[in-house]
Amino acid sequence: MLFVAPLLLLTILFGLLVTAILVSGKTSFISAPGVLVAGILIYGATLFVLSLTGVSSIRELEDLGRRDGLSGLPNRNALHQDFKRYAQSDEEAAMALIDLDGFKQVNDHLGHFVGDQVIRYCGDVLEEICGKEARCYRLGGDEFAILMLGPVAGTILEGMCRNFLDRLEAPVPIGERRLAIGASIGLANSKGSDDLSSSEMLRRADVAMYASKRSGRMRCTWYTTDFDRDREAVQELDDDLRKALADEEFALHYQPLVDASTKKIVAVEALIRWNRADGKPVGPHLFIPVAEETGLINPIGLWVLRQACTDALGWGEIKLSVNISAAQLRNAEFPIKLGQILEETGFPAERLELEITETCLVMDPIIAERSLEMIRGFGVNVSLDDFGTGYASIGFLRQFRFEKLKLDRSLVVQAGDDDGSRAMMLSSITLARALKMGVTAEGVETEAQAELVRTAGCDQIQGWLYYKAMPADQIYGLLEEQSAEDAGAAHLRIIN
Ligand code: GH3
Ligand code: MG
Repeated sequence: MLFVAPLLLLTILFGLLVTAILVSGKTSFISAPGVLVAGILIYGATLFVLSLTGVSSIRELEDLGRRDGLSGLPNRNALHQDFKRYAQSDEEAAMALIDLDGFKQVNDHLGHFVGDQVIRYCGDVLEEICGKEARCYRLGGDEFAILMLGPVAGTILEGMCRNFLDRLEAPVPIGERRLAIGASIGLANSKGSDDLSSSEMLRRADVAMYASKRSGRMRCTWYTTDFDRDREAVQELDDDLRKALADEEFALHYQPLVDASTKKIVAVEALIRWNRADGKPVGPHLFIPVAEETGLINPIGLWVLRQACTDALGWGEIKLSVNISAAQLRNAEFPIKLGQILEETGFPAERLELEITETCLVMDPIIAERSLEMIRGFGVNVSLDDFGTGYASIGFLRQFRFEKLKLDRSLVVQAGDDDGSRAMMLSSITLARALKMGVTAEGVETEAQAELVRTAGCDQIQGWLYYKAMPADQIYGLLEEQSAEDAGAAHLRIIN
């Protein structure tokens, strides 16, 4: 912008000169050749300044096209250009692709201004880590890349990426706030592959980055050709799942939970089944992770909720448990949709329990807390599922105050085998009780296990010892039998 002022001054001067001549009406005011010479001089000077400014603005424009405005880092164009330059040498090139975890939620819950500050913070940390050895870029959104060249580029780059993850282990200071930010990283190396283009390197790093997201985030993964094969399989399963949703190939089964002392059914857990048209059995442990990865879990999860609320509407007072995945809980729309389903189906909110795993909480504690608050606002209860399989459960119990804790089957089975596991189960139950939570033991298969969890203080038991999962009409039958028995017992009491 420095060139604008002299240019303006020259233009004004020239304008004044010409006006003065015209107003005076005589060329004798300044001799005609004098005006001509002055005009030429000013014109030449203007051209000179313009040529200077032209060059500088083109450079500026070029630089702008290679730089990201928010972080100040080189951008995607710069990465491609740098890689092309590097490719001319025979040295090993390694590329990392870094995507922040759950970044959309930072924008959604704290605003884009805070999101932008997080991006700048991460850019600064990356720049510091790369130093002069490597170059980092912001590709757009919450994606960054690092490019490194040299004999052991891959090894050094991996070290830098791990360093970045270590730095994110500490809360990120943004103004007054301390935010928990995570990242997933994919790495690709040119070694062993001839003539890789920059786009192919980036694609490989991207595929590896998604593998990091899938396997738990906050990690680095190197690309291997197996990923492409896996990706094709995931794509195929995703296509099938979309079709299954449209063709209504999903069904719900329900596993009863019994009262630990009366052994009466007090709740049912809805479990999804996929009846494929081709008859090939695919368990939820296979298709749910794929649906979570592709986002299809959102419509599938809503279908489960709507169907379960419809089925269980006429099942008296028993509770209905529905599993909610981390991806669903992260979706800001979820509590709103839940409210709509309760309204549409007329299902009483107090009878609904949503089961979440601690993965939901570990990944996005802030987001989880907000969503859970809204869900509880409807009167819906929240249970912590698979307790005993994670590592941070006790802290979460205090932070989130669930209505119910479900002890994982592995904890129940091990408690029967060794004293350490039994002590852990007992202390978990004591803690849950102290925090006024109900406790359910899952996966109980033997009388001995049932006795163990009952005396330990569990108030509900779920497991094959009592019931397996079954279709809705069978639950209906069981409940009718149960209420007929209750009526008979009441009748006997009255007679006696
Ligand atoms: P995941 O954990 O799976 O990576 O999901 P995510 O929430 O991090 O979201 P994702 O990486 O899929 O998308 C990045 C989001 O970044 C999408 C967009 O809303 C947001 N975003 C893109 N550009 C900007 C920006 O310049 N500033 C801010 N604040 N947000 C941006
Ligand atoms: Mg992200």
